[in-house]
Amino acid sequence: MSGSVTLVGAGPGDPELLTVKAVRAIRAATVLLVDDLVGTGVLRYARRSARIVHVGKRGGCKSTPQDFIERLMLAEARRGERVVRLKGGDPFVFGRGGEEAEHLRAEGVQVDVVNGITAGLAAASALGVPLTHRDHAHGVILVTGHARGDDAALDWPTLAAAAAQGLTLVIYMGVSSVPALQAGLLGGLPGTTPVAVVQHASLPQQREATCTLAELAATIEREGLGSPAIIVVGDVVRGVRHARAAQGLPQRHEDAA
Ligand code: SAH
Repeated sequence: MSGSVTLVGAGPGDPELLTVKAVRAIRAATVLLVDDLVGTGVLRYARRSARIVHVGKRGGCKSTPQDFIERLMLAEARRGERVVRLKGGDPFVFGRGGEEAEHLRAEGVQVDVVNGITAGLAAASALGVPLTHRDHAHGVILVTGHARGDDAALDWPTLAAAAAQGLTLVIYMGVSSVPALQAGLLGGLPGTTPVAVVQHASLPQQREATCTLAELAATIEREGLGSPAIIVVGDVVRGVRHARAAQGLPQRHEDAA
C-alpha cells in the first residue's frame, strides 16, 4: 500500500482564506498533522473519522521535535494513509516545509504541496497596505527575524540599506528580538521610516499598531503585542498612517469584530 503526504498551507488563520485545493485535501485526509499556527476554524473541514495530531506548542514551550514529525508522516504514509500536513500560511515560506518534503521524497514517498496565503501578505492586506505600491516600492523582502542557532546573525544594517532603495521589508518572527532588529535597521534606514505591526492577522483577535522605526520596540512593548506577528517596514505604510490621521484615528486600533 502506498499512501501520500500533502503539505497544505492553512493560510493566516481565517478559514475563508483557505484555497479550494486546501479544503479538498483536508476533506480527503485520513490523518492530519497540525501546526500550532493553524487556525482551529480550518479543521472544520476534516472528516470526523480523521486522526488529528497537534504537533507544536506555542509560547516558548518545546515544540514536537521535527524528526518525530517527519517519522510520523513517513510511517502513516507507508501504512497507506492520506496524510495532510497542515502548516500556517504557506508551507514553503519559513515553515520547514522544504525540509519535510526533501525528507519524504528521499524516502520514496510522494509529496504534493498546496499553497496557502502567507502571513506577510495577509498582514499587509489587513492593514490596507499595498506592499508594492509603485509610488513607494519596487519590491518586497520576506525575512525572518529569528536566526537559526548555528547561523550568523542577520546583517540588519545591510538589509536596511537595500530597503532604503525602495524595498518593503516584511519581517516574520521578529517581535521577540525587536530591540536588536530595530537597532540594526536604524543602521541603514531613517528613524522616521513608517512601520506597522500586525498580530493574529485575519483572525477576530487581530491587533495592530503603526509607528516609526525609532518607536518600534517601545510601541510593541506599550501595546503588549506579541507572537505571532508580522512587522512591515517601509514607505508603503505611510499611506495607512496618513489615512488614520486624516480620520482623526489613533495610530493603532484593536479590531472590534
Ligand atoms: N509558513 C508561515 C510562516 C511560519 S513562521 C506563513 O507562510 O505565514 C511563523 C511566523 O509567521 C510567526 O512568528 C509570525 O511572524 C508569522 N505569522 C503566522 N501567522 C500569523 C498571523 N496570523 N498573523 C501575524 N503573523 C503570523
